[in-house]
Amino acid sequence: MFEDKIQFEENSIGALIAKGGKILTDAGIENSKAEARILMAEYRNEDIASLYAHLSDRLDDFTIMRYMKAIRKRTTHYPFQYILGYTYFMDLKFICREKVLIPRFDTENLVMHALELSPAKGIKVLDMCTGSGCIGIAYNLWREKEGYSDDVTLSDISENAISLATENAAALEAGVKIVQSDLFEAFRNADGTPAVKFDMILSNPPYIRTKDINNLIKDIRDYEPRLALDGSPDGLSFYRRIISEAPEFLNEDGKLIFEIGSEEYMDVQDLMLDAGFRDIKRLKDMSGLDRVVSGVLY
Ligand code: GLN
Repeated sequence: MFEDKIQFEENSIGALIAKGGKILTDAGIENSKAEARILMAEYRNEDIASLYAHLSDRLDDFTIMRYMKAIRKRTTHYPFQYILGYTYFMDLKFICREKVLIPRFDTENLVMHALELSPAKGIKVLDMCTGSGCIGIAYNLWREKEGYSDDVTLSDISENAISLATENAAALEAGVKIVQSDLFEAFRNADGTPAVKFDMILSNPPYIRTKDINNLIKDIRDYEPRLALDGSPDGLSFYRRIISEAPEFLNEDGKLIFEIGSEEYMDVQDLMLDAGFRDIKRLKDMSGLDRVVSGVLY
């Protein structure tokens, strides 16, 4: 990266990117240089390419202050996406905020599998434990691009998730329904019978084993919501609950698609088979780890 090689004048954009990158490297941040560049572009309100045409320009004091404040905050391992305020998921820009899980690149596998399994007609879809709304909203918008108009509902128990998912749906102009619910609770009538049925249920529930949470990187462990991560001592409690209730809420040929932890495939497969799901499929992520499981209810 040539900000390091060229001597830029003090307080020039080039010098400040190099300085910010070095501070982040020293703090143990992996993508330090890319992050410094993206933050600079953000506070300059320009894209990276045009930033590179201005590396020798002197930065104004106000922007220096905002940029350096962001760099210092990031040295605590406070998540980059919370500082920036957004991230991209399936090529769509999602607002990110504290108390709601940041959309992960790996979760795109789940959406792509859902798109593959979808029929050539509009269907009813539920994204359960939606968090930022990224799965359901991205699914909805990509299906629209393919010419299908689905009826997509997002649900979450968390008030913070519901409000962020609502904001993301509005910002991206996705016509989704959003329901606050503890799993299927709000989807039942007073007598307990299902109030609605779906053709596809998608979910990336909390699945980290409680004892493994302390081994996560500091960025996640200290700053992302436990509610979105902790899957109980064996990591499987949400799969158990969702799989046992899902058949009531699925139409014939209904599909259930999960993101899973890398060691959870066998257990989740068994739970799905016991509940009557067939055609169980497993997909790996780019690192070769099990990441997505789907099944069909005949
Ligand atoms: N993949 C997430 C992680 O960063 C976990 C998300 C979840 O529990 N659903 O560890």
